[in-house]
Amino acid sequence: MDIYFLGTGAGMPTTRRNVSSMALRLYEERGSFWMFDCGEGTQHQVLRSPLKLGKCEFIFITHLHGDHLFGLPGLLSSRAYQGGVTPLTVFGPKGLKKFIHTVFAVSETQLPYELRIKEIEPGIIWSDDQFTVTALPLEHRVLSYGYRVQEKDRPGKLKFELLQQKGIPPGPMYGKLKRGEDIELPNGELVFAASVVGAPIPGRSVAILGDTRPCDNIVRLARNVDLLVHEATFLEGKKENAHDFGHSTAKQAATAAKTAQAKKLALTHFSSRYKEDEVMEELLGEAREVFPNTVLADEHAIITTT
Ligand SMILES: [Zn+2]
Ligand SMILES: [Zn+2]
Repeated sequence: MDIYFLGTGAGMPTTRRNVSSMALRLYEERGSFWMFDCGEGTQHQVLRSPLKLGKCEFIFITHLHGDHLFGLPGLLSSRAYQGGVTPLTVFGPKGLKKFIHTVFAVSETQLPYELRIKEIEPGIIWSDDQFTVTALPLEHRVLSYGYRVQEKDRPGKLKFELLQQKGIPPGPMYGKLKRGEDIELPNGELVFAASVVGAPIPGRSVAILGDTRPCDNIVRLARNVDLLVHEATFLEGKKENAHDFGHSTAKQAATAAKTAQAKKLALTHFSSRYKEDEVMEELLGEAREVFPNTVLADEHAIITTT
C-alpha cells in the first residue's frame, strides 16, 4: 500500500506541477489501484508513470472544482484503449453524474466497459471484507469530501514451529486454523486456533482530503491513520488568503495531523506562486515545527504508509 502522486499543484497546472491527482496502489492487497481526484492532464501524468489504467478499480473525486475533475472524461475514454474492460466505479459529490453524462452525451462517447457513478452522502460509502471507505464533508467553497480508507485487521500468522511439534502437516488444516476454526487431529487431539495463530495484524489506514480549511471532520477522518494526505496551499503568512478561499496552510495541516495523532503527514496542493525550492523548504519547515514526520508530495513521488 503506497501513494503515487500524479499532480500536486493547486488551481492550475504549471511546468513544475500538474493539478490534483494521486493513486493509492493496492497491488499486493487486491491487484489494483484507486485514484483520488483527476485534474486536467492526469492521463498524461499516468502515461509517464508505471500505472496502467486497466488496473484502476475506483476513482474518488473529492469535489467538483476543475483542478480536481476536468481530467476525468478524457481519462475514462482512454482507459478503454489501455486494456480497461473491467467495470469502474467513480465516487463523488452530487453533480458528478450530470457532469459525466453531459460531457459524454455532447461528445457522443460510448465506453466499452461498465461505468458506475455513485454520488455519495457522508458516512461509509463502500466496504468489502478487506477495506472500508468513509467520506465526510470538509469546509471549502463548494462541497468537498475527505476520504478515509481503512484496511480491516488481517488474521495473525500461523506459528509453524508449534504446528510441526504437534505433527500437523501443511495442508487444509492450516487454512482452517488461520481462519480461526479449531480442528481435531486423527488421534483425537483438539487443536485450538487461538493457541497456534498469532495476534491479528492491525489494518492500515490512510486519509485523503479534498480542499479544505481547518475543521473538525479532518481530525475525525485522520484519527490514528498511518498516513494523512492534506492540502497545504499556502505558507503561514498567507493564512488570511487560505481562510478566505477555503484552504489550509502547511502549519494548519500539521496541527490537524498532530491533533488526530496521525503517524505521517504528506502535504500536497501547493499554490502555483511557490516555485523555488527554498520556498518549499520553508513550507515544509513550518509544518515540521508542529508535526515532525511530514513530507512534501511531488510529481511522480511515491509515499509509503510507514
Ligand atoms: Zn484545488
Ligand atoms: Zn477546490
